[in-house]
This record gives sequence, C-alpha cells and structure tokens, in this order.
Amino acid sequence: AQANVGVVGLAAMGASLARNLAHHGNTVAIYNRTPKRTDTLMEQHGDEGAFVPSYTLQDFVDSLIPPRTAIIMVKAGEPTDEMINALADLMQPGDIIVDAGNAYFPDTMRREKEIRARGLHFVGCGVSGGEEGALKGPSMMPGGTEESWQTLKPILESIAAKAEGEPCVTHIGANGAGHFVKMVHNGIEYSDMQLIAESYDLMRRGLGMSANEIGDVFEQWNKSELESYLIEITADVLHEQDKTTGKPLVDIILDHAGMKGTGTWTVQTALSLGVPVTGIAEAVFARGLSSQTALRQGAQAIDFAGPDGSLQLSEQERESFIEDIRHALYASKIVAYAQGFNEITTAAQEYDWKIDLAAVARIWRGGCIIRAKFLNRIAEAFESGQAETSLLFAPYFKEAIEQAQASWRRVVARAAQYGIPTPVFASSLSYFDGLRADRLPAALIQGQRDYFGAHTYQRVDKEGTFHTLWAEEGRPEINA
Ligand code: NDP
Repeated sequence: AQANVGVVGLAAMGASLARNLAHHGNTVAIYNRTPKRTDTLMEQHGDEGAFVPSYTLQDFVDSLIPPRTAIIMVKAGEPTDEMINALADLMQPGDIIVDAGNAYFPDTMRREKEIRARGLHFVGCGVSGGEEGALKGPSMMPGGTEESWQTLKPILESIAAKAEGEPCVTHIGANGAGHFVKMVHNGIEYSDMQLIAESYDLMRRGLGMSANEIGDVFEQWNKSELESYLIEITADVLHEQDKTTGKPLVDIILDHAGMKGTGTWTVQTALSLGVPVTGIAEAVFARGLSSQTALRQGAQAIDFAGPDGSLQLSEQERESFIEDIRHALYASKIVAYAQGFNEITTAAQEYDWKIDLAAVARIWRGGCIIRAKFLNRIAEAFESGQAETSLLFAPYFKEAIEQAQASWRRVVARAAQYGIPTPVFASSLSYFDGLRADRLPAALIQGQRDYFGAHTYQRVDKEGTFHTLWAEEGRPEINA
C-alpha cells in the first residue's frame, strides 16, 4: 500500500480531481469500471504526479494506506450506491468513503447511517466548480464525522481553491450537511443566473441594445459590487459571435434552459421546511417555462395582445435605467442569498447540524460557480451576529437594499408595464415588501380558512384559539 487517497470513477470530474490531488503531492490510487479511462488518464497525465492505477476494486483498496480514503466520483443515483457498497465490502472499520458526486442529501443521510453501522466513515462531499474547478481548485463542502474530517482536512485543503489565501473547504456538519449546503449553493446559482438573464432581457428587448453592447455593460458591472464569476462569464458569452452566421452566438442558441435537478431539490426541500425561497423557486420555474415547447408555441399561435417589450426611452433615460437594473440585480441577489441561508439555518435546526454560516460564505468565495466579491460582506455579517435571523438585517445589507430600492421598484414596474417577464426581480421585491409590512393580508386568509374549514384563528388582543360560526345568524364567536 502506498497511496494516501484514491479516486473511483475517472470521467470528467473524477479524472480532474485525481490529477488535482496528484498535483498537490498526494499519491493517488485510481480505478474506473471501464479500464480504458484509467489507461487514458495514465497515458495523457501519468507524468503529472504519483498515480497508482488498479484494474480491480480489490487492488485499488489494497493500494491505499490505512485508514483508507476513497473518493467516489461516479454517476449519481444507483451507480453511486453500488460503488459505495462494493467498497464497503472490501474496506476495514475506520476507513473513509467519500461521495463527491451530486447526491440528494436524504440519500447521503441514509448512506451515512448504513456505512456507519458497518464501522466505516461515510462523507457526502459537495463539490462545486465543474470540471475546471475539480482540476484547478474546487469549493468543497464535506459532511460526515469530525473524526473523518481530521483525516480529510489536509487532503482536501491541498486541492481546494484559495480565496485570499484561505482554502475553500470546511467541515460543514454531520451526515448530509455537506450535500445539503451544496444543494442550496446550486439553488442560489439558479437565481443568480436568472437575475442576470432578466437584466439582459431588459437591456436587449427593453432598451434595444445589441448583445455586444450588453456584454460591455456586464464587463463594467464586474468592476462594481457585482463582481463575480457569473457576471464575468456572461460578458464573454454575450461577446461571442457565431462562426457560421456572424450573428451573436446568444441569438443562435435555442432558448430552452436545461436543468439537472439540484435547483428543484432546493425548492422541494424549502417547501417541506416551510422556508420561502421565492427567488430560487421562480428561477427554477422560469427554466421550466422556457422548455415548455408546446405551451410556448401555442401562445405564439394565439398571438396574445400586449406590449412588445420596447421601453422607448431617450438616450439619457436609458443610461439611468441601466443603472437601475444594476441596483435591482444587486438587491435581488441579496434577497436570494438571504433566502438560501435561511433554508440552511432551518435545516440545521431540523437535522441537528451545527453549520457555521460565515464559514460557508467564505468557502464560496473561490472555486465555485457563485463565487463573488460580496461573499466577504456576507461572511462579515454572519460573524458579527447581526445576520442571525436574516442576512437583510445586517446593517451593511439593510443599507444596500435601501439604497437600491427606488431603482428596484422602477425596474419591476417598467418591466410589468412594457411586458418583459422579471419573475425573480419581482418576487424578490415582493418578499422584501412582505417582510417590511406591519400587517399582512394573512389575517384575511385565516378568516377564509376558518370560514370553510373551521381551521380556527388567533386574535391580536387576547390569548386563545377562536372559531366564528361565520354563516350563522348572529355570527357568534367561540373560544375553540
Ligand atoms: P458521469 O456522471 O458522467 O459518470 C460517469 C462515471 O461513472 C464513469 O466513471 C463511469 O464508469 C461511472 N459509472 C457509471 N455507472 C457505474 C456503475 N454502475 N458502476 C461503476 N461506475 C459507474 O461523470 P461526471 O464526471 O460528469 O460526474 C461524476 C459525479 O460528479 C456525478 O455524481 C455528478 O453529478 C457530479 N458532479 C458533476 C459536475 C460536473 O460539472 N460534471 C459538477 C459537480 C458534481 P465507466 O467509465 O465504466 O462508464
């Protein structure tokens, strides 16, 4: 045995992770079900570091120094279960199995329980940054026991992205906590992307700007508090020309947004936890609508009357409206993060995880898709204890949203007036206004519920649970 860590599954992600490990002084055992991938990695990258290739799972396990650490990077779902069980059959108590694929956190909780019962450690580890991140430094969110973290820490810190010198990895919490936080990361990613897309639509259709001009705007925005990976790549995407037609590539790409499920999981989980993640939910639904081909074609055929999206602004008004969009984007983005962190806090209570939110914000500063300058501010807000209930309550973000507010309202109002859909801008603003409201119309809903279902209600002026005999003569109220 000579390898201090092993990787099972050498497709795009696994091969990149194995190479990253080797680049940082680890001796890396490698195994893939189909030998060809192992051979290809050795042929093309075998000289990049110390690899120990194996062609059976037994040889792979034997090549690992105890306590063994095996990282699984195979297809999510059934194949991951098969591989976990096959490894557990061959490994010894105290060994560590890491699932670095995209797993749904209840699966991770189940797997952790099963593997722990067999005396081994199971770590569900969220990995963000795609193939390039896996190779050059991802952001990683490991769950599992504190004991397994002690072994994994130096290995994962060696390959993680660095943000201001700090490795973008931290022990998130027990069992499924790591995959949970990775899931919410992806949910926030959905809303970040949709907000950028709504901003683009407002400039393209609303202001009649070219893709190239809008690319320039995003390039400028990337020098502001919006500085982030997604804004940066958006500028590149918009500047790209199609080689065959000479048109902006964005005009040639079919407008059906795909998804692989993590956004949906984030929303489903939020619904069952009772946490409003309206921005993330609208972002998932917007992708859903984009891909409803028959529905969209039907709507085109019916040719609904309505505004065409053109805002008809003067040159001067256009400039200030672009600034409005920038402020609206920032405010809505803050709301999406506030909602995402609320989901984490609520889940932590539900599942008994101790999650350091400031540490989560810090490891998202590098390597991952939502990496952004303002995560430093989020980390500070949680560290100060001022964001415990909501990120929006921290003075920095309270002020930011107050300053953006007038712009945000103009953007949502104009978009509605001229017929450009802005589901995440609008729902984030509604969430903010819902929070601000002294009284909500929920009182009326309670009245309706009590009327048709005798669901009872509480009063503002006295303790107790009440029911009104709404439809009856004299409408008596009874203390239920
Ligand atoms: P894929 O999801 O395409 O999976 C292919 C790998 O799984 C191959 O190594 C394949 O082996 C192996 N595999 C499939 N079925 C089995 C099985 N029954 N038994 C053993 N091995 C099996 O690979 P990716 O590299 O794209 O992703 C790996 C994991 O990482 C997934 O869970 C994915 O969700 C996650 N992930 C992916 C990201 C990305 O950007 N792609 C980002 C973050 C996470 P073989 O060669 O023999 O077919």
